[in-house]
Amino acid sequence: MQHRLRFSKKGVSSVSDSLWIRGGRVIDPANEIDQEADVFTKDGIIVENLSEDDRSHAQVIEADGKIVCPGFVDLHAHFREPGQSHKETIGTGARAAAAGGFTTVVIMPDVSPPADNAGVIQYILDAVEKDAQINVLPTGCMTQERLGEKLAPIGSLKQAGVVAISDSPNSPQNNEIMRRTLEYAGMFDLPILDQCSDHSLTEGGSMHEGPTSLRLGLHGSPRVAEDLLVSRATLLSSLTGSHVHLQSISSGSAVDIIRKAKGRGVKVSAEVTPHHLTLIDEAMATYDPRYKTNPPLREESDRQALIEGLLDGTIDCVATDHEPHVDYEKDIEFDQAPFGVIGLETALPICIETLVRQDAAELTDLIRFLSTNPAGIIGIDKGTLSLGVAGDVTIFDPDETWQVESDSLESLSSNSPWLGEELTGRVTHTIVDGRIVHGSPN
Ligand SMILES: [Zn+2]
Repeated sequence: MQHRLRFSKKGVSSVSDSLWIRGGRVIDPANEIDQEADVFTKDGIIVENLSEDDRSHAQVIEADGKIVCPGFVDLHAHFREPGQSHKETIGTGARAAAAGGFTTVVIMPDVSPPADNAGVIQYILDAVEKDAQINVLPTGCMTQERLGEKLAPIGSLKQAGVVAISDSPNSPQNNEIMRRTLEYAGMFDLPILDQCSDHSLTEGGSMHEGPTSLRLGLHGSPRVAEDLLVSRATLLSSLTGSHVHLQSISSGSAVDIIRKAKGRGVKVSAEVTPHHLTLIDEAMATYDPRYKTNPPLREESDRQALIEGLLDGTIDCVATDHEPHVDYEKDIEFDQAPFGVIGLETALPICIETLVRQDAAELTDLIRFLSTNPAGIIGIDKGTLSLGVAGDVTIFDPDETWQVESDSLESLSSNSPWLGEELTGRVTHTIVDGRIVHGSPN
């Protein structure tokens, strides 16, 4: 009822409380379903069927030839509000997410002021309530002002409504602070989202350190900067018993470290971005800042190790690391340009191309990586079409082609490596709590 009021308040037309998604290929990995079927929601909840009366009033989506699956869940996005709303607001970020099929997005605390206290979290939650038609879940900082020096008030952040804590895109460099952060987060049953990078080894680096950086004459960040802190995270997780989720894994040797830690039963999980699964450092040959990311694009052997790690369960999920920057900030000299690419609106077609069309994975695997698994990592009741859960559903056409153009993106920024390219695979409808938030009924 709360959601219905919220949407009607924002002027979304008042429509039937029932939704009938007809004739699609339903893929729900959590329930091992992959078959042609109808999906129904009533009062925002997935139900087995609708009464004749409800059917006659229901909104209908003809999904023939399309995939119907649980809404995607992104554990790693940067919306820029408060502080840098010219790059992305909570409203525009949520619209970009909906266009990409994401019904739930976990946003990082690197806003300004940083989300290191209950007041900023409340500001974010108010903006979500006002402007976002999807589920936007805030995280709080690990350390005050994300400086890595003093612990943030983790208990009051939890009370304020965060689902995890993180200093992303940084990680505390002091091991004692990191250990105490894990101990406190564990007490409050909050996962830590850790982007692993030893800053003493990455200082001045603008790309991956390797043959390509040597050839281009650019200062590089070595794999070992990531590997060291991934090792630290696994050791401290083992020591404290706290859950650490490793963000944006890009190094092949880090995949090995995680595989061994999981083999010992250490409570870690991990994600990889669509761009690290698809692109390598050689893309930098044109000095195009749209390929400048943190962590950097690495070598083909790393990319292969990331795919292998995803397929064997070492890496649990795909996350976008959506990092919006506007053109005048990004289109400058390579060394000076900020790190990061947007990813919410292109994640699906890029993953289809890299994983499914290359025969590495099936569509059902892809939906596990984008929906079922990330929901499980933060323990939310999403990522499934089970009866009785919220009606968060994504419908996509795996064969529809479309052009990535800045005018057609919902994001305020267009710093995508795929700008101007034609991609295959497009979200046609995104549904949150049984309400269509992207696409139209038939
Ligand atoms: Zn990030």
